[in-house]
Amino acid sequence: MEEEKMREIHELIEDIRQRATSGKGDPHLPARMWREEEILNGKPVKALVVVLRTSGCRWNACSMCGYFKDSLKGISPDDILKQVDYAISEYRNEEIIKIFTSGSFLDPQEIEFSLQKKIIEKLSGLKNLKVISVESRPEFISYDRLNHLMKLIHPKSMEISIGLESANDKVLQYSINKGFGFSEYLESAKIVKEAGALLKTYILLKPPFLREREAIDDCVHSIEKIKDITDTVSLNPVSVHRYTLVEFLWERGEYRPPWLWSVVEVLKEGKKILGGKRIKCDITGGGKERGAHNCGECDNSVLDAIGRFSLYQDVGYFEELQCDCIDEWRDNLDLEIFSLSPVVS
Ligand SMILES: [Zn+2]
Repeated sequence: MEEEKMREIHELIEDIRQRATSGKGDPHLPARMWREEEILNGKPVKALVVVLRTSGCRWNACSMCGYFKDSLKGISPDDILKQVDYAISEYRNEEIIKIFTSGSFLDPQEIEFSLQKKIIEKLSGLKNLKVISVESRPEFISYDRLNHLMKLIHPKSMEISIGLESANDKVLQYSINKGFGFSEYLESAKIVKEAGALLKTYILLKPPFLREREAIDDCVHSIEKIKDITDTVSLNPVSVHRYTLVEFLWERGEYRPPWLWSVVEVLKEGKKILGGKRIKCDITGGGKERGAHNCGECDNSVLDAIGRFSLYQDVGYFEELQCDCIDEWRDNLDLEIFSLSPVVS
């Protein structure tokens, strides 16, 4: 698609966003909380996931992201601290705690540095906890501040997740509107490693304007380019969030979320590239119209295999999968090469 058309669409989305209400909810309670299984040092453990309500992502302009609904206007540092206290009251000796926001934990405008320190100090007092995991855009990762937080956490570990999405600058700029390039990711990734933290990198499967085959290839190339620096890869298949460019295209029949077969393909290829490092995939809305899906018949068994693979890293879980729709998926991959626009079915 030409750049001018792309700009027009992004302006339109900007307009939709302006009219969309920001999130609603109690400023003293996290936006969402749940528990999930994770692997730590090769063993299954429990993780507590907390999504804090903050003022939200400072960038807030990616084509697929609808997480601004978890933000709240006028939220104060005190409100955020109350949310953390609530989360701690729900802590049940999990070994991992993931503190997410709808933006960047390390953005001092979203969570001022003194508050970051307070939160980390509180969490570091949790007895059974081993790893604290947070997310950030690369521009907010500073060596000095991160080093300071690492000292507060010690001897627990810190994991920083960066949403790179793609190692291809054209995809970052035109398909995602990410606002940074691959070189900025690399600089921040280096800081994370130098500070002694663990690095997780999110890779996005099927941003808009890519055909299914191109989307798979983009993920595989991206994993290849980060294999030496990241500790973990987390594959995120696009799901259709409200008030996004992706939804705008989807409603017009110009976008289909990725097939689950494509997810399986990337996980298999990614595992080959990463060897002993972990690659996992948490699917939101899997098997539904707005999420990654297959034909409807096989979705649950494929999702189940993806979940088990994400924990135990055994590609053997994929070998038993079979459904007639795998031929339709393969045909689509071939057909799209000869068509001008993605095949939507
Ligand atoms: Zn099927």
